[in-house]
Amino acid sequence: MASRRVVFRYPRHLIDVPVVSHLARNYDLEFNILRANITPQSEGVMVVGLEGSEENLRQGLAWARDQGVAVQPLERDVVRDEDKCTHCGACITICPTQALYRIAETQEVLFDSDRCIACELCVPACPPRAMQVKF
Ligand code: SF4
Ligand code: SF4
Repeated sequence: MASRRVVFRYPRHLIDVPVVSHLARNYDLEFNILRANITPQSEGVMVVGLEGSEENLRQGLAWARDQGVAVQPLERDVVRDEDKCTHCGACITICPTQALYRIAETQEVLFDSDRCIACELCVPACPPRAMQVKF
């Protein structure tokens, strides 16, 4: 089994296309919607965790792209500006998934994008605005 966390961007004319349920039904993928911001008037954005065989993931995401949905790995949309981070730790207790954590030996605060669910709680909590969610 393989897993991916991806951001789907739907142009307005695709808002009604049931992309995620099609992926589940036709490519045997399990899904977990982490965030969804879809309104009929504008572009929709959905953050989804997908799990299935490597081949089904590849084919399913290729199908979504063929429909016109922009598909991007979540780690490209949630980033930390390493030059701005002061390792103050203000984000650590706020982050619900421990994607931000401190290394005891060095006192550095690290960001593990694999654990991030794009909740955005760290963005306002970060004094120098080092955390960026780009959607
Ligand atoms: S709150 Fe911002 S500056 Fe402080 S450790 Fe977290 S990411 Fe770095
Ligand atoms: S967006 Fe949410 S899950 Fe990701 S690092 Fe920030 S607080 Fe943690």
